[in-house]
Amino acid sequence: DSWTFDEFEPLEAIGSGSFGLIRKVRRKTDGKILARKEIDYRKMGVKEKEQLVAEVNILKDLKHPNIVEFLERVIDRENSFIYILMEYCEGGDLAAVIKRHKESSLYIPEEFIWTIMTQLTMALHECHCGMTKGDDNNPPQPRAPILHRDLKPDNVFLDANRNVKLGDFGLSRSLTNPQKAFAETYVGTPYYMSPELISESVYDVKSDIWSLGCIIFEMCALKPPFLADSQHELSLKIKMGRIQALPAQYSNELNHVVRSMLQVNPRKRPTTSDLLAAPRIRLCKKQLE
Ligand code: ADP
Ligand code: MG
Repeated sequence: DSWTFDEFEPLEAIGSGSFGLIRKVRRKTDGKILARKEIDYRKMGVKEKEQLVAEVNILKDLKHPNIVEFLERVIDRENSFIYILMEYCEGGDLAAVIKRHKESSLYIPEEFIWTIMTQLTMALHECHCGMTKGDDNNPPQPRAPILHRDLKPDNVFLDANRNVKLGDFGLSRSLTNPQKAFAETYVGTPYYMSPELISESVYDVKSDIWSLGCIIFEMCALKPPFLADSQHELSLKIKMGRIQALPAQYSNELNHVVRSMLQVNPRKRPTTSDLLAAPRIRLCKKQLE
């Protein structure tokens, strides 16, 4: 990680993260456009630095067509900046897609929703059930599940062909690591937080499935499944788990899958394997191949 950052030409900023900007850059060697997370580590506490190291380590090992590709990490000690170079997703994020549709009062076509759900499920399947890379001496073997823990439309990026690239693993954790309280790192309105996290502060693969259900619901209804004016009211609604039917144009099959993911009892929710076995998702997967 001792590359000089001169090999990248800075272009415009494309987003602002909790610790700095996300900037478009051009790699001078081959002209390739990349995204660069620019983190000022002087502003970070010890915990946050550990978190960042964990994020980079998790991303480094996750290689999947529907997960943002991590390319390299550059440390600029002189200015105390860490740069994380990753694949650039020029289609923006899913939050912007939802916002555009909401503003023009147009529902998102069901076909597109299934495509997004299928690709997000494949990305999550890699996180939850992926294998180690393996080498000459060690064959690949199942590795500890990686929990994303911050699934929401803002963290689902799209490439030029509108393929899903799951990103922002800033709160993700491997299940082998000791569980830390989620609340201490969680910022923002927890629209996508699962009932078990609210009641017992526990988080497992099924909590990611809950959040996936929230994302798909929001793509259909153009608003999250649970809305409230205060955190307290929101918590109550989430724990009750009462959700409205999707707008009338969406199929029973879609309603059914979304409901299955939004069950208050985590054990009743499908795993990524269950979802990938659903007829419509299998079909969608075939079409993507
Ligand atoms: P934060 O942890 O602050 O939420 P994110 O990684 O989610 O940081 O990035 C913030 C925003 O920047 C995203 O919602 C997205 O719009 C944009 N962004 C982040 N990474 C990329 C990328 N690789 N390609 C394109 N846009 C990106
Ligand atoms: Mg984010």
